Amino acid sequence: MCGVFGINGHDEASNIAYLGMHALQHRGQESTGLAAAEDGKLRRHVEMGLVSDVFDRERLAKLPGRAAIGHVRYSTAGSSELRNAQPFLFEYSGGSLSIAHNGNIVNAVELRAELEASGSIFQTSSDTEVIVHLMAKAREPDVLGKLVSALKRVRGAYSLILLTHDEKMIGVRDPNGFRPLVIGRLKDSYVLSSETCSFDLIEAEFIRDVEPGEIVVIEKGGLTTHKLPESVAPTFCVFEHVYFARPDSLVNGKAVYRAREKMGKRLAQEAPVEADVVIPVPDSGVPSAIGYANESKIPFEMGLIRSHYVGRTFIEPQDSIRHFGVRLKLSVVRAVVDGKRVVVVDDSLVRGTTSRKIVKMLRGAGAREVHLRISAPPTTNSCFYGIDTPTRSELIASSHTVDEINRYVTSDTLSYLSHEGMMAAVQSEDGKGYCSACFTGKYPVALGKEADLVQLRRARV
Ligand code: AMP
Repeated sequence: MCGVFGINGHDEASNIAYLGMHALQHRGQESTGLAAAEDGKLRRHVEMGLVSDVFDRERLAKLPGRAAIGHVRYSTAGSSELRNAQPFLFEYSGGSLSIAHNGNIVNAVELRAELEASGSIFQTSSDTEVIVHLMAKAREPDVLGKLVSALKRVRGAYSLILLTHDEKMIGVRDPNGFRPLVIGRLKDSYVLSSETCSFDLIEAEFIRDVEPGEIVVIEKGGLTTHKLPESVAPTFCVFEHVYFARPDSLVNGKAVYRAREKMGKRLAQEAPVEADVVIPVPDSGVPSAIGYANESKIPFEMGLIRSHYVGRTFIEPQDSIRHFGVRLKLSVVRAVVDGKRVVVVDDSLVRGTTSRKIVKMLRGAGAREVHLRISAPPTTNSCFYGIDTPTRSELIASSHTVDEINRYVTSDTLSYLSHEGMMAAVQSEDGKGYCSACFTGKYPVALGKEADLVQLRRARV
């Protein structure tokens, strides 16, 4: 789970990239970094933390140049490390190159073993570094040739932005197009980003998506397009629409907000219930709860309030007063739920622990009935293409029926959106054009050995 951003041809490249990355902060909060090119030199700064904490005016002034790329990174389990913070910067026979990656390479463990056996020394535990070594070893004379050669060996999900010392910026999406990557224009410069919400902030014009399997090369004010040799039916990640992307973004050509609203509308048709109020689990559950409320004609209210000040580094003050858990993040508006039959809409249910606590909090605040509605199907499988879901055994729906989950989370009723309903909301016929492996277990790109995958997930921490 990461975000990437790049700009080429702007006097304030680092400053603009800083803003663009800030708009992508929801895609990763653990580390961030920027690389900028000027006079044949690439400079880079990476650090653990949020974009606004890591960069200030002085720091940005040390990254001069008309081209810059940035990255925000997220990993779930365990400690994350500075050495894995991107963009990576490396020297090779052709000069220096920086690279920012969103996605997950499924054959990284095999490739790494092979590269190490032939003498490569890895500096990070990230899957992205495999691409770097493959590029360094490639015989092609130019950077584009080296990249294409490297990517022929790589399987999985990658939306990449690269920047060379001589201000060539390259954007590429894997042939399946798992993760988003969009092209925009800001005056005379080109911008690349994971999501269009960063274009809105910097007042850039959205031009189009980088197509699955497409490579765009931006240099000297121009953009040229190339194709990766492999061509497959695209499988864009449906979970970007369900949860991950920002609702004000357009991803895969569709407004995320509208897709979520339609999921909620469809959920109200599939799983109606008599109730007094519909409330979302903020923030990602809001558009689908609005869709549910409009369709069911049950009033929409904000019965849960999210605190925006609980970061990943929040420390509970003392052991004796611990275990606030979800309460730190979400609080109930008693005036909305007291004495009411409440429909609570969330976008997904992963382990079930959050929902269980929310139901308890709602009852504690006087809710008479709690009907949980999930605007996606049961999450039954892990993602290996760039979303950090827990291992399969931790996904409650991988081993429990909806009835059992309902009993566990102690709701009065629990319903999920059907797979067809979710796909209808993103205007896909029979799931065509999308990856929904986390809901179906049908993985469009062959995975490595299970052991490799476990190792890979750890390697990403
Ligand atoms: P759980 O308690 O594990 O069932 O968590 C469910 C909540 O986690 C929902 O409110 C989702 O919005 C949120 N969620 C779903 N997928 C992810 C993810 N990959 N990373 C972080 N949060 C997520």
